[in-house]
Order: sequence, then structure tokens, then C-alpha cells
Amino acid sequence: MPGKGVKRGKGKEGGAGESAESRRGFMLAAVEEASLGVRNGDGGPFGAVIVRDGEIISRAHNMVVALNDPTAHAEVLAIRKACRKLGRFSLHDCEIYSSCEPCPMCFSAIHWARIPCLFYGCTRKDAEKIGFDDNVLYKMLRGSYTGSKFRSVRMSREECLKAFELWRKDTKSIHY
Ligand SMILES: [Zn+2]
Repeated sequence: MPGKGVKRGKGKEGGAGESAESRRGFMLAAVEEASLGVRNGDGGPFGAVIVRDGEIISRAHNMVVALNDPTAHAEVLAIRKACRKLGRFSLHDCEIYSSCEPCPMCFSAIHWARIPCLFYGCTRKDAEKIGFDDNVLYKMLRGSYTGSKFRSVRMSREECLKAFELWRKDTKSIHY
């Protein structure tokens, strides 16, 4: 999982050139967001900021309760804001600071956004201690969890493949 030995690239990609001091400042901004969310009663104590060229371009906190949206995690909201701001779906030249180790959904979202560098503060174990247990999801992804009634069933593959055919033949499709 992410965290240990984050590689620092050359040039602007991956936020190289930022001092430990400014990185700490970005993480503190993420924590401020997390605290703001708690004070507002918006959702869980999680915050995230996205940084580009040494500047925060978006910040967000968990809004699951406020929006009645189970996907409104800090990282996802920060990614959406940053993409809206930059007018593109790739954040390949940004880095993300999350006050806590991202859940599998946010970890995936960070990868889909092509963000090459993640910094996080609390660990998933810290989150588990206050009632946010991502461990079940990790186990389900590994196929090693048997305690769930959740079912995943494949069906109507032939019909569903039609959309893939359309995509493959469409010369205007934007591949990403
Ligand atoms: Zn998440």
C-alpha cells in the first residue's frame, strides 16, 4: 500500500521541489478541512487537498452526511473540484494530501485521476479505532472475506458487449 518510500521525481511532476516545510503546511490544510467537517457535522473526520506547482488548487472534507452521498469522501470531492478547476480529467501534475490513508474507493479514484503522489497522515488502523473499518473492503477485494451477504453476479454479457463495440468503432472516443 502507499506511503513508504514515496519516490520524488524530477521536474514538476509529482510535486518535486517542495520542501518538507511546505508539505507539512499542505497536510495541516488537509487536517483543518477534516476538523471543519467535524465541526459542521458534514461527515467523518477526513480532509484532503490537491496541490499543483506548490499551490493548493482544491480542498475538501468528507460530506457523506451533509450530502446523503456515501461516495462524498474528501479525496473524491477534492479530485472533482480540481478537475473542474483545471478543465480536464487528468491530475498527472498534481499531488494529493489526505489526512488519513485513503479507503479503497479513494485510492482507486486517485489512480484514475493519474495523481502520481499521495501523502497521508493517519493510518487505516487509526481510522479503524474510531469506527471506520476499511478492512472488510480490502478482504473482499482479495476474495478472502466470507462474512458478507453481498453478491456479484455476471449476466447478459453479450448485450453488454455492444457498448464496448460501439466504443471500439467510434473514432471520436477519447481514450484515457
Ligand atoms: Zn474514501
